[in-house]
Amino acid sequence: MGSLSGKIALVTGSSRGIGRGIAERLARDGALVGVHYGNNEAAAKETAALISAAGGRAFIVGAELGVPGDMDTLMAGLVAGLEAHGESTIDILVHNAGLNFMGRSIEVLTPEEFDRMIAVNVKAPFFLTQRLLPRLREGGRIINISSVSTRVASSGDSIGYPLSKGALDVFSHALAKYLGPRRITVNAVGVGYTDTDMTAEVLADPAHVERNVSRTALGRIGQVPDIADAVAFLASDEARWITGTKLDVSGGVGL
Ligand code: NAP
Repeated sequence: MGSLSGKIALVTGSSRGIGRGIAERLARDGALVGVHYGNNEAAAKETAALISAAGGRAFIVGAELGVPGDMDTLMAGLVAGLEAHGESTIDILVHNAGLNFMGRSIEVLTPEEFDRMIAVNVKAPFFLTQRLLPRLREGGRIINISSVSTRVASSGDSIGYPLSKGALDVFSHALAKYLGPRRITVNAVGVGYTDTDMTAEVLADPAHVERNVSRTALGRIGQVPDIADAVAFLASDEARWITGTKLDVSGGVGL
């Protein structure tokens, strides 16, 4: 029996990268996991297959975020997936899907790119939470995948991205108070540079890697399990008294 046995989780953007790692880890701990994806159905199926192969349970939910009707599509897929497993509620909601126009400085980021980042990184978590409030069980968890870039300003990132993650941090903080009476904890995770598709291009540049490693106390680039393990802790009963906070999971960037 895993520590999350009997629990149900939804992880947005778990077709790839950090989300996939989180989905695999929560399933390994015993949760039934909804693997959400935007366009990459094949990758989401692969995440679900990896979970099944390890003895876990998962179903996939497709819905591109930041387009008209996105919440209706997501909810329809989620409800169908839950019903197929005889369920209707969830315990753990991980807002992981996110977008970064890497290296787009304030001089060049377009209003369209800015709106898209806000739509995926801020508006989608807000309205998905709104839709799921009636289905979130007492004692549940909401975990928002944020960024260390709200704490350490980086010359390389577009300023729009940290701005969107800062809004997500405020959402975590305010929502934690609001959901306290239902014993639902809400926390953010401050992720540092992590090896995924999102960072593949910049991490292919040895000078960029060296710069980031040199400002990280633990002296390396983050790997997906580094983040997934921290999320699993926040999802577990061990973290029941932690709410409204942001856990820095960056290996000590900029200390
Ligand atoms: P990734 O490898 O680019 O994966 C992104 C995931 O989000 C994919 O599953 C993708 O689905 C989904 N997604 C993106 N846009 C979407 C949309 N419009 N609608 C639906 N799904 C969408 O990214 P990652 O590095 O794993 O990042 C995961 C989270 O960590 C993000 O919130 C990111 O901001 C945060 N983060 C990452 C880093 C880092 O260094 N990697 C650092 C700080 C914070 P599809 O596969 O269907 O496209």
